[in-house]
Amino acid sequence: MSTIPQQPKKLFIKTYGCQMNVYDSDRMADALAPHGYMPVQDASDADLIVLNTCHIREKASEKVFSELGRLRILREERRAAGGDLTIGVAGCVAQAEGEEIVRRMPDVDLVFGPQSYHRLPDLLARAGKGTAVVDTDFPEEDKFEHLPAARREVTVARGLTAFLTVQEGCDKFCTFCVVPYTRGAEVSRPIAQVLHEARRLADAGVREITLLGQNVNAYHGLDASGRSVGLGELCYRLAEIEGLSRIRYTTSHPADMTDELIAAHRDLPALMPYLHLPVQSGSDRILAAMNRKHTRDSYLALIERIRAAVPEIALSGDFIVGFPGETDADFEETLTIAAAANYASAYTFKYSPRPGTPAAKLGEQVAEPVKAERLARLNTQIMAQTRAFAEAQVGRTLLVLIEKPGHKPNQLGGRSPYLQAVHMDAPRENPERLIGTIQPVQILGVGFNSLSGRIVTVAELESATHVESQAAMAS
Ligand code: SF4
Repeated sequence: MSTIPQQPKKLFIKTYGCQMNVYDSDRMADALAPHGYMPVQDASDADLIVLNTCHIREKASEKVFSELGRLRILREERRAAGGDLTIGVAGCVAQAEGEEIVRRMPDVDLVFGPQSYHRLPDLLARAGKGTAVVDTDFPEEDKFEHLPAARREVTVARGLTAFLTVQEGCDKFCTFCVVPYTRGAEVSRPIAQVLHEARRLADAGVREITLLGQNVNAYHGLDASGRSVGLGELCYRLAEIEGLSRIRYTTSHPADMTDELIAAHRDLPALMPYLHLPVQSGSDRILAAMNRKHTRDSYLALIERIRAAVPEIALSGDFIVGFPGETDADFEETLTIAAAANYASAYTFKYSPRPGTPAAKLGEQVAEPVKAERLARLNTQIMAQTRAFAEAQVGRTLLVLIEKPGHKPNQLGGRSPYLQAVHMDAPRENPERLIGTIQPVQILGVGFNSLSGRIVTVAELESATHVESQAAMAS
């Protein structure tokens, strides 16, 4: 039932944080589209501005409050000119702070958590009546069931790659993390729902999907018979979808890395040989204090098993340095596990307390300069490892998904199976016809943040056997 107003309204969503929030912002736009809201790129044009917030980064709430201060000024200007502006706060800061946002910023019309965005049209209808609407419940209903299918033209505009949320929430309760509190307990979407959305994306031209979940490999969606299906089986099913050439997923927990999922990496050319598997620390003492549910040895044994099944797999990790109580000796173990795991890349963070988490209440907080020095040392090591991994690709021929014209004329840009940006010389005639195809690219050089190479011709391919990593070459 459409309630499209005569004059379309303009929606601007500012997205902070992870890919899950990017996905959520797109779904909010989908939920509001039947109600006449069109996304715009410029906040100064918008009738409705939503800040889709993230609680992971340091001082996340303060950054949101200062952005809200700017929006208040924009609204005053708008009202002085006879117009208006509706302001909403969504995401994990909204979930964590709730009413506090309205208390500090009475100008906000709408505060809603990640479990409520399917109710956005209804919340919006209730907003603007003098009292802010706050919805941070964890509802019984499945929000995915209540969201409209993304409009085809919007999906196409999103390009060749897309995110697809399959799981939300987390039951692990790492002591530094707010996710179990802001996103709630683990919930998985039924397999039929995921396959339906993936088929729709593939039909709209998407070649690569990244399955999202706060703890994605804990996925346990039900099939039609009510059987619980793991992420490995889901990947086998997704790999059957015509047109879908590449599957990725993030973020995983080591404790949920099943044999079936490892076998899927071994068996499925579409499942990219790249695995983000956070370890957080190399010290058993700190891992226990973090409640990570794995040890240094169990983590290293796991990646040995994964590499035995899939030798070419590239690993990336997450690290937190300066967790409360971390000594120099603990930190040295973090450096040594990063080397032992031979990461191709990693995300590194300084610990900072998140209100409401157990670690925030611990004594023995590490001094800022010590954290900064440890972070710099770890970053130096990780950058060297990333560089070494990139240099190891020189001379190899990798299958690259061509995504766009390159930065320079006569160049194309794409991604390797390992998520590296690749720039290559384009064929002279109509190079853009290759966008959306997967091409064998011989890697010739390593730039600051990317690889460079050249597309290998069919004749060369026929005389060589050096294409690696992804057996199926789709066009
Ligand atoms: S597994 Fe990840 S999402 Fe879950 S509590 Fe730990 S860090 Fe947070």
